[in-house]
Amino acid sequence: MNSIFEKDKTYVAGTYTRFPIQLVRGKGALVWDVNGKEYIDLGSGIAVNGFGVADDQWIAAVTAQLGALPHTSNLYYSSPCAELAEMLCTRTGMKKVFFGNSGAEANECAIKTARKWGLDTYGANHSTIITLKNSFHGRTIATLAATGQDSFHTNFGPFPEGFVYATANDLADVRRLADENACCAVMLECVQGEGGVVALDTDFLSGVEALCREKGMLLVIDEVQTGNGRCGALYAYMRYGLHPDIVTTAKGLGGGLPIGACMLGEKVQNTLTPGAHGSTFGGNPAVCAGGLSILSRIDEKLLAEVREKSDYIVRELSAAPGVKSVTGLGLMLGIDPVRPAREVAERGIERGVLALTAKTKVRLLPPLTITMDQLKAALERLKDALKPE
Ligand SMILES: *Cc1c(COP(=O)(O)O)cnc(C)c1O
Repeated sequence: MNSIFEKDKTYVAGTYTRFPIQLVRGKGALVWDVNGKEYIDLGSGIAVNGFGVADDQWIAAVTAQLGALPHTSNLYYSSPCAELAEMLCTRTGMKKVFFGNSGAEANECAIKTARKWGLDTYGANHSTIITLKNSFHGRTIATLAATGQDSFHTNFGPFPEGFVYATANDLADVRRLADENACCAVMLECVQGEGGVVALDTDFLSGVEALCREKGMLLVIDEVQTGNGRCGALYAYMRYGLHPDIVTTAKGLGGGLPIGACMLGEKVQNTLTPGAHGSTFGGNPAVCAGGLSILSRIDEKLLAEVREKSDYIVRELSAAPGVKSVTGLGLMLGIDPVRPAREVAERGIERGVLALTAKTKVRLLPPLTITMDQLKAALERLKDALKPE
């Protein structure tokens, strides 16, 4: 066996089921393993490498900052953090940004902010947050509690109280929970990613927004996976015409380095006060310099390309043998395969294409910048992997 496989199995905590390839380098939508085999990457490091692997402009931005000031602390001012926060606010209409290092941390900040806002607005006990069944919000204890899947609520209890779970696309169920509990917020993903790439209904989402206004609850949108151009808009909520109070994002914002951002709208812009929250690495200059390079290039031209590539993939795969249906939005797509999803991913690797899974779906999160030629070649390989026996 490959000695790195053995070392990893011996020394790295056994929390991942890895595919048996060792990747050593990449460029754009291509990655190569230790044996020199080339793969077309339809996973982007789980929606992280939106501009592909080792994007030149991103490398230049990060390395310039690495040479100047790779890290300072949040006790001092530095430019990349302020510039990135300004760009996020300008492009979303949000008022302030808290930076952390991951999606889970962005959601932790959203949960803390919503609860503090509930306390400030209504007094004690207005702390309940409605989330959706089949959602995914992270792996920390609080974000696991927020995740509306029973399978995540075993082994690690006790979990924090104050999360109740509504059925997705069932507005009456959200209303029932809002009536029965003293709520400060509803938190949801517009497209449930880990839950199987399920895009929620437009009517449901606008209904939830109206209910939040009626009941005095915050609307919190988790854009950790859907955001940063992935769904064909800068943030997926924009495609649904929503006006969230808090937006969290992570994965694709850093272009390959760890970042999380919790964007705070008008109502909650002053909810967090000095000392209320913090992060040692949050807003790290090198990471934020990379984020600026990424965010500044997610423009309408790129977003239009994302929507076109999405239409192309849906057209190609909907008609392919071994495909029951294709769901999702933009370049966040789920294929319901005849073969088991894991088997399709393994057959893809044999054929030189990297795909992901989510529940029973094959999940595609290609780089936003994948070329049409690369995409065509990848889909040929994937169709062969999907072909039933
Ligand atoms: C990946 C993901 C998270 C967790 O992000 P981490 O960076 O792994 O902590 C949270 N919410 C959604 C919707 C995600 O897809």
